Amino acid sequence: MLVSAKEMLTKAKAGKYAVGQFNINNLEWTKSILLTAQELNSPVILGVSEGAGKYMTGYKTVVGMVNGMLEELNITVPVALHLDHGSYEGCLKCVEAGFSSIMFDGSHYPIDENIEKTKELVKIANEKGMSIEAEVGSIGGEEDGVIGKGECADPNECKSIADLGVTMLAAGIGNIHGKYPDNWEGLSFETLDAIQKLTGDMPLVLHGGTGIPEDMIKKAISLGVAKINVNTECQLAFAEATRKYIEDKKDLEGKGFDPRKLLAPGAEAIKATVKEKMELFGSVGKA
Ligand SMILES: [Zn+2]
Repeated sequence: MLVSAKEMLTKAKAGKYAVGQFNINNLEWTKSILLTAQELNSPVILGVSEGAGKYMTGYKTVVGMVNGMLEELNITVPVALHLDHGSYEGCLKCVEAGFSSIMFDGSHYPIDENIEKTKELVKIANEKGMSIEAEVGSIGGEEDGVIGKGECADPNECKSIADLGVTMLAAGIGNIHGKYPDNWEGLSFETLDAIQKLTGDMPLVLHGGTGIPEDMIKKAISLGVAKINVNTECQLAFAEATRKYIEDKKDLEGKGFDPRKLLAPGAEAIKATVKEKMELFGSVGKA
């Protein structure tokens, strides 16, 4: 059964580790992530962007697929199904469809409007026993066509949003989505430290986990990050393994064209990436 992300993140923050959010795109992605979480006895958050939700034909299909797998793969570790960077309307749809967690990204609204809309969604999420993530200060890079550039959030604005009763808070600390450019300045630990001091035991979320050096990830966790989003890294691993299969002409051997064979190396590559991240984040054995 899907669970809210509240308990797993409260434990992670207290235990100084982070739970990974791995975004899903299809059956192979979902299966690979769930099997790895179960094998490593780790809690996990499945992220779904609005674009990926549309790609999978809608949120109801996503909920049906994930719930089916939890049962048929005998998944017993805590799993949250979470809308990533949701609009107000997208959040309502996911509540309706049976997600267990939502993110409202109101970072592009003026802070007063972000607060107003977040407040309404917190009320709805609480009634349904769902977790809700809010965002302050835009996170750079491109996510479903929304572009920002490595900003740092205002710690006081973070406190205003945290005080609304959200479950977890995403704040820009110089992180960006997608691949990091060569001239990236790194995470602003000064900003992160200031945010944690004002928001206390609120689990903080680090977006754009792909390509942040390991020592920075560990330091961020020590400063209150309890959820780390990974998306691009699984995509790169999947693409590379699939490319190799084709370039090695494996699809031309016997029944190598069978999609169950063609997609297998990519699925294995996702598993390896998820395992590596769970080990780095410290969530192994914490289910
Ligand atoms: Zn993000």
